Amino acid sequence: MLYRMLPSVDEVLRGSASAVLMEVHGRMAVTHAARAVLGRLRVEIAAGTQGEESLADVLRDMAAALEREVREAILPSLVPVLNATGVVLHTNLGRAPLSRAALDEIVRVAGGYSNLEFGLETGERGRRDQHAEPMLLQTLAAMTEKPLEQFAQRWSVAVVNNCAAATFLALNSIAEGGEVLVSRGELVEIGGGFRIPEILRKAGVVLREVGTTNRTRIADYASALTANTRMILRVHPSNFRMEGFTAKAELAELIALGERAGVPVFEDQGTGSLLSPEELEANDESSLLRSVREGPALIAASGDKLMGGPQCGILLGEPKLLEAIRANPLFRVLRVDKLTYAALGATLRSYATQTEDDIPTVRMLRMKPEVIRARCAAVAEAIRGDGIEASVVPVQSVMGGGTTAGTTLSSFAVEMHCGVGASVLLAELRRQTPPVIARVQHERVLLDLRTVAPEQDTLLVELLHDAVRGLSA
Ligand SMILES: *Cc1c(COP(=O)(O)O)cnc(C)c1O
Repeated sequence: MLYRMLPSVDEVLRGSASAVLMEVHGRMAVTHAARAVLGRLRVEIAAGTQGEESLADVLRDMAAALEREVREAILPSLVPVLNATGVVLHTNLGRAPLSRAALDEIVRVAGGYSNLEFGLETGERGRRDQHAEPMLLQTLAAMTEKPLEQFAQRWSVAVVNNCAAATFLALNSIAEGGEVLVSRGELVEIGGGFRIPEILRKAGVVLREVGTTNRTRIADYASALTANTRMILRVHPSNFRMEGFTAKAELAELIALGERAGVPVFEDQGTGSLLSPEELEANDESSLLRSVREGPALIAASGDKLMGGPQCGILLGEPKLLEAIRANPLFRVLRVDKLTYAALGATLRSYATQTEDDIPTVRMLRMKPEVIRARCAAVAEAIRGDGIEASVVPVQSVMGGGTTAGTTLSSFAVEMHCGVGASVLLAELRRQTPPVIARVQHERVLLDLRTVAPEQDTLLVELLHDAVRGLSA
């Protein structure tokens, strides 16, 4: 009976190997590992895949099996990866990488207590948004060249979990039970299940569709207004582009109409970009800065798209609307914690002090193609030979993450080939530590270095070598 050869869990735990492991990883983890190893052996015996000799070998090396098991069990599942896809805001890869300043701020604040909701002057309960509002308003006032006092009377700020939450909360706080006008051309799905008609329904508002899919004029909005209209919603269509026979009302026209009718205009802006619209090259790229200049009653934006900060949703609008939003019990449900305020504050400070190049997303967007080309040439040179072919090819990087569809940036990539199919190489790259995420075009693996931090070029070279070695092993 092979089962008889197996020690009991207790016997394994009394062994000297277990004692050493317990000192490092604790008794619970080692006990759990011992159960797992013995359990697996029982399954293998039952399946007939273990014989007397092979089992004896495994048992002799119990210490190693136990250690492997403990290590694997406590391995984090969330790990850093190298993004060589050229998609700057890759939602599946965690969107915006945080700046050094944002990370330092998290470390400075989150390891201890903080004045998150505490007024240091009054000694009484304070608002969390005191840690986002002043910095955002100060930055936006400076960027739009408005006096701060005047600006601060017009705008107030609330931060929630993400832009989807911000949009939902705004609709529910201001328009519940009433009608909201939305152009048929803006009844979109942003991705990840965020569909405008469904969000409206769940927020308890009645969707009043305006115009047609391709053409919606200001007159269409005007004729759709009723006594029940609580809000006009403008949605930045983010991930698709309409071409041909199209028309849409300008935001300024909507704002004028809203003011005449006494109905607030709410813009789901999305990108949160604080760069000048001109800099973003694409003429119709939505920018938070441009929205603030135009001045709808309320704006929702993401923190981790073009702003380059932590995941959050920023609501920026007229103080009386923000009051209604803060009074909604759902505001409490959707609130963010001190890590987010710390990182957001530091990110905004980079814009306020014009050191926004320290924000990885901004640096990647601004990186000149010639610089990327030179880095690609160096990487290609370093990996070429020993069965690896590498060359530098022009490609287009993508903004991604719900920024204007079709907005691309000229870039360069290392095209890599090593005698195996592209998907085989791609999979081997994913097996590295850290994993390298690349893309395939015409059966060739491409590594766009725009989205790889320059400091990691040497690491990338090592990982590429390791991957090819792994393939031939
Ligand atoms: C991306 C986006 C959202 C969703 O933002 P999250 O921060 O991912 O929740 C909503 N609206 C628009 C216009 C967007 O671009």
